[in-house]
Amino acid sequence: MALRNILHDNHPVLRKKTDKVKNLSSGVLRLLDDMRETMKDANGVGLAANQVGVSKRILIAADGDEVIYELINPHCEKREGEGMGIEGCLSVPQTYGEVPRATKVVVTAIDREGKPFRITAEGLLARILQHEMDHLEGVLFTDKAVRFIDPAEMQEGEES
Ligand code: ZN
Repeated sequence: MALRNILHDNHPVLRKKTDKVKNLSSGVLRLLDDMRETMKDANGVGLAANQVGVSKRILIAADGDEVIYELINPHCEKREGEGMGIEGCLSVPQTYGEVPRATKVVVTAIDREGKPFRITAEGLLARILQHEMDHLEGVLFTDKAVRFIDPAEMQEGEES
């Protein structure tokens, strides 16, 4: 495993829609391992492949301290409710904002073995998944934030 360099928000790759993964090559598996290590090292709760410069539909999302979901070709099947929450992003350092998101989502994807699975997520995990799926479309949370928050107001940010 190796740490990858996290791109910042002025990088054009972050603004490009990512490509669907067609085969689970060893490169994709290595990328997933590296993304896990890179996210942990940066104290993040989610990471999209294009944040490390790979324009493919791959994301990881932490569910608490123990579980990290790996989603290849994720698709949001269902969204419910709307709630406001504060977000940050590893690609947009020292910036926090309030972003409206669905409070519950159902997301389908394939895992690293190519098996389809479905996650029903609420609360923070639902927010992380929506934030990361936006990355795959070239969208940043700063596009959707309704209010930005002074970093001094933030005790401890969760960045994805
Ligand atoms: Zn982000």
